[in-house]
Amino acid sequence: MFKKIGLIIVVVIVVLIGVMAFKTFTNTADTPSVDAVEMPAIDAEAVASRLAEAVRIQTISTGVNDPTASREFDRLHLLISSSFPLVHETLKREVVGGHSLLYSWEGSDSSLPPVLLMGHMDVVPVEPGTEDDWQEDAFSGAIKDGVIWGRGTLDDKLSVFAILEAAELQLAAGFKPKRTLYFAFGHDEEIGGENGAGKIAALLEERGVKLAFTLDEGMVVVQGIMPGVEEPIAFIALAEKGYLTLTLTATTEGGHSSIPPKTTAIGKIARAVSRLEENRFPAALISPASDMFDTLAPHMPLGLKAIISNRWLLDPLLVSELGKGGATNAMVRTTTAVTIAEGGTKDNVLPSTATATINFRLLPGTSFEDVIDHVTKVVDDPDIEISVKQGNEPSRVSSTAGEGYQLIEKTIRETLPDVLVSPGLMLAGSDSKHYETIAENSYRFIPMRFGPDDLARVHGTNERIYIDNYVEIIQFYRRLMENTGG
Ligand SMILES: [Zn+2]
Repeated sequence: MFKKIGLIIVVVIVVLIGVMAFKTFTNTADTPSVDAVEMPAIDAEAVASRLAEAVRIQTISTGVNDPTASREFDRLHLLISSSFPLVHETLKREVVGGHSLLYSWEGSDSSLPPVLLMGHMDVVPVEPGTEDDWQEDAFSGAIKDGVIWGRGTLDDKLSVFAILEAAELQLAAGFKPKRTLYFAFGHDEEIGGENGAGKIAALLEERGVKLAFTLDEGMVVVQGIMPGVEEPIAFIALAEKGYLTLTLTATTEGGHSSIPPKTTAIGKIARAVSRLEENRFPAALISPASDMFDTLAPHMPLGLKAIISNRWLLDPLLVSELGKGGATNAMVRTTTAVTIAEGGTKDNVLPSTATATINFRLLPGTSFEDVIDHVTKVVDDPDIEISVKQGNEPSRVSSTAGEGYQLIEKTIRETLPDVLVSPGLMLAGSDSKHYETIAENSYRFIPMRFGPDDLARVHGTNERIYIDNYVEIIQFYRRLMENTGG
């Protein structure tokens, strides 16, 4: 009997190992064969100087309730009109929501659903106290040793200007799109985009426009970040996480600290916070993060490749590894971050209220309601009130099978032949959400090349871009216009 069971166990193990080895070794990349396309040369010096000029104009968004930098936006609009005369002459230009720009490039075939390329003209301020840490002044637009310096060179004046450069070149070459192309440039993305992208989307909706897809900022080409993958990877984000800030308020009786109760309002808040940190949302590898791992597995070292190729068996192991921390944790979990705690004013007075502010980033498929339910259950304290401070739901997940994804992927392979292409999940937010109701799919990608240190430059110190890379980005948009509009 025992011999028989032993034999069965051995057979099961051998079969399992066989299946896992088979799954691992047959998991090869099915990259479509696309030839690199040699694009006509670009005057790198000229395009760099135009972007540098844009950087010098301080179109800063500070806060939703702060005044808009109207004069600076007017200056930027003038720079755009004078820098791209063919675009200005040929395309329909509308100013929307005060300072945002919508360009329409009418296609010859109205049966084709239009495509909308996006960027935003506003930038974040330089954090006070860090001005001197910049190698070149943040608004200098300095060009040195093949690099353009300053706010907006990564986020996101570069895509506004790269799209316009590409369109100007295409107009000069006599290109006429079959499909209508829209360019939408918001002026308030950094503070939510309600007045810019929000109003442009509403205007297009009012006109009955149904977009095939939108392409916005979001993810980039990264190298040296994915373990074991040496090639640069172009991540096309299919979705962005949601954002929800909750305020927890504990209310108890105040009084003198000489006769305190067992727990004060601060104690209640502290307990709630600690419960929330101990009871994180469960981790799960779902689309689009799962699509990313599936796409990249064939390029990973054997151990990782074996685990990902055998998710049917090893999913819990993989998820618990990914969920340990950092960016991979953010990909598999709705994250919880306690960002503000307040309570008490005097050392001998019992505070009658104390609050904690908690910021959640929601995985696609998780709703505000899910988060509030989770918090209510975990905190489990009737003296604590939970209220929504602000937020937006996670985006839907766009398709990799759709025409838009295929066109973007093809264009990447043609213009950046050295990179792998993968779907991805954007951890931050973008203006794309405003167009969700009128676009079949929304993709978020700019072919900026990032090394391990470059992410910190976005909204941080020493934001800058290599001119060579900027030229590649222009070539990408140029080719994309041919591929989508041609
Ligand atoms: Zn941005």
